[in-house]
Amino acid sequence: MIIAVAKEIEVGERRVALIPETVARLVKKGLEVWVEAGAGDRAFFTDAAYEAAGAKVVADSIAIWGEADILLKVGLPQEREDGRQEIDLLKVGAVLIGFLNPLGAPETAQKLADKKVTAFAIELIPRSSRAQSMDALSSQASVAGYKSVLIAAAALPKYFPMLTTAAGTIAPAKVFIMGAGVAGLQAIATARRLGAVVEAFDIRPAVKEEVQSLGAKFVEVQLNEETVAAGGYAKEISADARQLTQQVLAEHIKNSDVVITTAQVQGKKAPLLVTEEMVAQMKPGSVIVDLAADQGGNCARTEPGKDVQWHGVTIIGTINLPSSMPVHASQMYSKNLATLVQYLVKDNALNLDFADDIIDSACITHDGEIRNQRVKDALTATSATVGN
Ligand code: NAD
Repeated sequence: MIIAVAKEIEVGERRVALIPETVARLVKKGLEVWVEAGAGDRAFFTDAAYEAAGAKVVADSIAIWGEADILLKVGLPQEREDGRQEIDLLKVGAVLIGFLNPLGAPETAQKLADKKVTAFAIELIPRSSRAQSMDALSSQASVAGYKSVLIAAAALPKYFPMLTTAAGTIAPAKVFIMGAGVAGLQAIATARRLGAVVEAFDIRPAVKEEVQSLGAKFVEVQLNEETVAAGGYAKEISADARQLTQQVLAEHIKNSDVVITTAQVQGKKAPLLVTEEMVAQMKPGSVIVDLAADQGGNCARTEPGKDVQWHGVTIIGTINLPSSMPVHASQMYSKNLATLVQYLVKDNALNLDFADDIIDSACITHDGEIRNQRVKDALTATSATVGN
């Protein structure tokens, strides 16, 4: 059985699916690992390091895709420079694992099903303690949360910490984190380490204690509706609840030097938390970092991939922050994938037990079919839009 690691060809992607240390562990377990030459270059993992770990380094990308029994990737398969689709290079019955964006790009799932590929969307691994070591959404979100604070600190024309100097006392920066999931909690911890005074808000009241235990103040808004959906994810809130939260949050946003937004609702456009009026009320020089930029943005003025200046406020629409820290992002992603691979392979053969919730949830295509109802619904919705 060949486990192959493809080089990411998407512009801006610097991560690699397996790092040499993890390759060595898989090889020790008796698995054959092939790595495309140069796959780790942009994350500073050399071909020589992969070879030393026991991988076969293969220069021919067509062989990597075509011979793989299990092909490991970071992002969606792409169109190659020669015009061929990476998916078309996979052999029938191969397994593909990566961030396959099945709800946002369901047409890719359809192509994978047509090709009879067994595809695992790593973002659909259940958020349970049993699956924790395969949870790449969490490992990558924590990188994004950390980096968002560094970006904000670099853009802020002020110190983060309080300083008492001979030239006077410097007040600490006020940071407001909106959305206290994995990225938000890591952002809180990082901002606290840099010495800022931190407040945080989330519609899931359960996170209050976690926020407080990191040394931040939890901003409370009493919402008279259920805000948590199955699996612990946030629900989309009603227009009334949105209005109520905005009234309370406006004051906190106005008084903050930095606002970091991380709010997401699974399968939906990101909620709008920071309106134009709120941005206009912030002090000139303030900074907003929007981690939901590529999901539509939490701030009305966000432009994905751009730094926007508006009313003296810098609004940074970050995209793919994990790729900007490719060493540790790849290290954690590699561990997530290797755990899943070992979960799927028994005695050097694929062992697909669909009664297992991890496999059932993450496997989006098998045997020519899309298996996941939400992906089918997303595909129907996309086809309807295209048809209109
Ligand atoms: P996410 O990226 O889907 O969303 C980020 C945060 O935005 C969430 O905390 C969410 O509540 C919040 N949010 C959504 N709408 C909002 C709004 N209108 N205003 C303010 N905040 C809003 O979240 P995530 O970090 O992927 O975590 C999702 C869930 O999974 C959480 O319940 C988390 O505790 C859980 N989780 C469990 C495990 C585990 O058990 N192994 C691991 C990771 C995450």
